[in-house]
Amino acid sequence: TGVDLEGKLSRFHALMMFTKVDKSLNLQQKFQVAMRSMAKHGRFLEDEMLVLHYVSDVGSQELGEKMLPELLLEATFRYEVVFHNVDALTEKLFPIVEAMQKHFSAGSGAYYSDAIFFLSVAMHRIMPAELKRIVQLDLDLKFKSNIRDLFQEFNHFPYEAVIGIAREMQPVYRHTFWQYRKENPKSRVGDPPPDGLPGFNSGVMLLNLDAMRRSTLYNQLLEPEQVARLAEKYHFRGHLGDQDFFTMIGMEHRELFYPLSCGWNRQLCTWWREHGYGDVFQLYYHCDGPVHIYHGNCNTPIPDD
Ligand code: UDP
Ligand code: MN
Repeated sequence: TGVDLEGKLSRFHALMMFTKVDKSLNLQQKFQVAMRSMAKHGRFLEDEMLVLHYVSDVGSQELGEKMLPELLLEATFRYEVVFHNVDALTEKLFPIVEAMQKHFSAGSGAYYSDAIFFLSVAMHRIMPAELKRIVQLDLDLKFKSNIRDLFQEFNHFPYEAVIGIAREMQPVYRHTFWQYRKENPKSRVGDPPPDGLPGFNSGVMLLNLDAMRRSTLYNQLLEPEQVARLAEKYHFRGHLGDQDFFTMIGMEHRELFYPLSCGWNRQLCTWWREHGYGDVFQLYYHCDGPVHIYHGNCNTPIPDD
């Protein structure tokens, strides 16, 4: 086709955290499954291109550059690969997210290197303004559907929504909100679906960067005083980074979030079933409808089917 088509291509952006991959065979295997299944099921139009962004250290980037051509051999669509240096992004991110780190990170201090776990939260301030939408994905995923269909979900966002995200499928936030739930026994915070608010899982996220930039409310919620206010109100103390932040502000402002169906992030981890929540586990874990993406979280094997 035409040589000057490049400028007219419509681009679909996906981003993955990709650090210490050169040091972990386990992560390399997950990466292979994710990329091969994405290539296998991906279908795009002639004038479209998938742009794959990886946030990497030097060693992981070298490995990624070596592995990707083979992993994407089956792809029938155009794609482009962009590596972002994790240290450069961390430097921009840290001042924005430093204050929230103490509420949503493991341990007591706000470690500089942990800032990257909050990338999605401030992505709209880090990425260039030309980037209007991006999907952030974990590496421990297996695609069963066309990733292009995931991007179509952006078109269903109501006006106030800034992020599309699926619910958490374990009672982890029932646990986190324990004290708040005791003080507010009628509240739906931490309750299971369909009527409750089980919180979010960050394995698959649709970030409408334009809407995030535009939303006065969302940007106010990033301010340290606002984070502290809500953390106090909900007695929130977590260690899961961005997904804790989104879960907490989602309890207060549901309109900011477009709920992705559970099939777009079918989590498989069952850790909380064996740790005090066996009686209610199934209420959270249950997911009807087609599975588009399996998420083998907490190192759970993904079925070969
Ligand atoms: N990750 C990474 N390097 C690491 C650990 C994690 O790049 O050493 C990225 C990777 O994209 C991974 C994501 O961080 O999918 C979240 O971690 P993980 O999926 O293991 O968490 P879980 O879903 O089990 O909570
Ligand atoms: Mn994961």
